[in-house]
Amino acid sequence: MSRNASFAARSYRTHGIVLRTYKLGEADRIIVMLSPEHGQIRAVAKGVRRTSSKLGATLEPFMLVDAQIVHGRTLDIITQAQLQRPYGQLIAADYTLFTTANVMAETAERLTQTDDESSAVQYRLFHGALAALSRIQHNPSRVLDSYLLRALAAEGWAPNFSECVKCGRPGPHASVNIVLGGSVCVDCKPSGSLSPGPSAVMLLAALLAGDWDLIDAADMADQRAASGIVAGYVQWHLERALTSMRHIERTT
Ligand SMILES: [Zn+2]
Repeated sequence: MSRNASFAARSYRTHGIVLRTYKLGEADRIIVMLSPEHGQIRAVAKGVRRTSSKLGATLEPFMLVDAQIVHGRTLDIITQAQLQRPYGQLIAADYTLFTTANVMAETAERLTQTDDESSAVQYRLFHGALAALSRIQHNPSRVLDSYLLRALAAEGWAPNFSECVKCGRPGPHASVNIVLGGSVCVDCKPSGSLSPGPSAVMLLAALLAGDWDLIDAADMADQRAASGIVAGYVQWHLERALTSMRHIERTT
């Protein structure tokens, strides 16, 4: 009885999506998982690199699993996992989907490294984007762009593509300034702004809002321009986040 009680206290059950895995020792793997309730989980799955391991096939990147996890002395240990949605299987079969999902997973991992408060939202966004990718209803690059903008917005870095971020004049405007966080009108436009044109800026607003009718109808040049701006925006914020994290580590 007491043994069971102490096991229950040391263990928990959660569902989550595998972000990535890496090798540990001879036969084990570290599984990095995103859970809506527990945020980012880093736990060991023992013996999973043996071909006979059923757990190994379940704990692959992008699988949605239901896992039983025990708190260990240094690292948590995954003792059981049941497959709930085999997104990983569908995504790993297609190179474009796989590389797209990897960029999403890397971003999700970075954004949930320190902050548990937003993990439920981050989980929902990541899950939604993975599901959309595996259905192949939309261009994978647009699923990625929309995911990236929304994941950053959930951390409080929502860009504004509807009005001028300096004077508030309603858009769509032709220019975007990444550092200022959105579109800028002709009068406010600082040097160093990008000018993809109003239809690309409208596409950016649609990607942020998840307005798929507009996204799917966008022309190729606008899609490319919007993608470049999303990539720049993500890079700028993640680098700043990383720098401030290093600063926190140094000062505390
Ligand atoms: Zn302005």
